[in-house]
Amino acid sequence: MRKRVAIIGAGPSGLAQLRAFQSAAQKGAEIPELVCFEKQSNWGGLWNYTWRTGLDENGEPVHCSMYRYLWSNGPKEGLEFADYSFEEHFGKQIASYPPRAVLFDYIEGRVKKADVRKWIRFNSPVRWVSFDDKTKKFTVTVHDHDTDRTYSEDFDHVICASGHFSTPNVPFYEGFDTFNGRVLHAHDFRDAREFRGKDILVVGASYSAEDIGSQCWKYGCKSVTSCYRSAPMGFKWPDNWEERPALEKVDGNTAYFADGTTKVVDAIILCTGYKHYFNFLPDDLRLKTANRLATNDLYKGVVYVHNPAMFYVGMQDQWFTFNMFDAQAWWVRDAIMGRIAIPSDKAVLMKDVVDRVAGEDAGKDAHDAIHYQGDYVKELISETDYPSFDVDGACEAFFEWKDHKKKDIMGFRNNAYRSVITGTMAPLHHTPWKDALDDSLESYLQTGTARAAAE
Ligand SMILES: Cc1cc2nc3c(=O)[nH]c(=O)nc-3n(C[C@H](O)[C@H](O)[C@H](O)COP(=O)(O)OP(=O)(O)OC[C@H]3O[C@@H](n4cnc5c(N)ncnc54)[C@H](O)[C@@H]3O)c2cc1C
Repeated sequence: MRKRVAIIGAGPSGLAQLRAFQSAAQKGAEIPELVCFEKQSNWGGLWNYTWRTGLDENGEPVHCSMYRYLWSNGPKEGLEFADYSFEEHFGKQIASYPPRAVLFDYIEGRVKKADVRKWIRFNSPVRWVSFDDKTKKFTVTVHDHDTDRTYSEDFDHVICASGHFSTPNVPFYEGFDTFNGRVLHAHDFRDAREFRGKDILVVGASYSAEDIGSQCWKYGCKSVTSCYRSAPMGFKWPDNWEERPALEKVDGNTAYFADGTTKVVDAIILCTGYKHYFNFLPDDLRLKTANRLATNDLYKGVVYVHNPAMFYVGMQDQWFTFNMFDAQAWWVRDAIMGRIAIPSDKAVLMKDVVDRVAGEDAGKDAHDAIHYQGDYVKELISETDYPSFDVDGACEAFFEWKDHKKKDIMGFRNNAYRSVITGTMAPLHHTPWKDALDDSLESYLQTGTARAAAE
């Protein structure tokens, strides 16, 4: 009997999984029957932008946490697919920090070419998964919004690729309920122009805080105040951006910080992170982990140690993204197809997790963390036929990126890097990021020669 495999989610991770199986089929292997359940009406995961917040057109929680004007926050040379370069997709090399629409186009190009859409059931949120110890089958219960019916099907394996940057972590601070302005989480932030002329408070010191504050600055907010619990971001901010220690409370429109200072603000944006949240999984299948590079309970970062027929893809915190999801997807494919053996002794699986956690904990800084995840990508790739690529070169692009941010936080996206897939240098973008208000695909793809020549 041909195995049946359920994939939950058609974001970059789920699509990587479909492409991995398709690539084996292309080489003549007999692959399992695949069903990918996707809650949204289109693929792309977080990259599938919507103006909506709250609930979607089917009454499901909106998945998208991205916003208008979002540009890649790291160089594209760190995420390029080894089997589908930017040059192959766009017919030329493009600048290094593409806006969301450009990256969506790129993600889509590969899976259109691979013709995997036929395996995806859209508008189909998975409601529940259970495992029968006797039959060794998973039962997946799904709501098909197109026909408005709920049904169940059995599978030999489940691969959960539902993402973990969609369910906001929303803290409460005294005074929020009487604040005279908007309080929102980054998940619901869509358009920086809403904050033009306003004094905004950004709570948090990670990517969302940095990028949402930068967006608001770029589109004309009056000032940005960001506050941190453990350490400031420490960049050389523009004059109208200051960092304060932890927020303690608000009173009216006044925010109070741990150092005793105050600031009157018009809006508060909570960049306080996301939760790994799987309301469709029972306790015995549900991953419980912090957002870190070495997750709990995943052998090789993908096999659920408490039930090795269940896999997770893309659950780590991410320096590497698309190419790491590929490395994982190729590995999971080969485990399911019997090309890679998963140890049967649970103690071996658990030890692998413990070792990975210790490996991450031994790192001192971001540099070590990038290497750590790069090594993980290399490890998985070496065990499958995913095209090998210069992972160390991709790490170098990340190191340069960190340096560029240190030098000029509002200008780092004006730099260019060399592709580790094709070896070609990206052109400089035609307009500095802070002046490029139109982030459409058409605008971004205009050639960059005018600026390059001028500089
Ligand atoms: C604001 C923001 C900016 C980012 N910027 C970058 C960037 O610049 N560069 C970069 O490389 N990465 C970036 N990321 C990281 C991002 O996590 C990855 O790029 C990528 O989207 C992760 O892919 P994924 O498939 O694992 O998850 P997701 O993209 O979250 O996709 C998961 C999919 O699963 C579906 N799903 C969820 N639950 C169910 C269910 N019950 N049933 C059926 N389907 C379900 C969702 O609808 C979604 O389509 C950013 C993330 C955020 C939040």
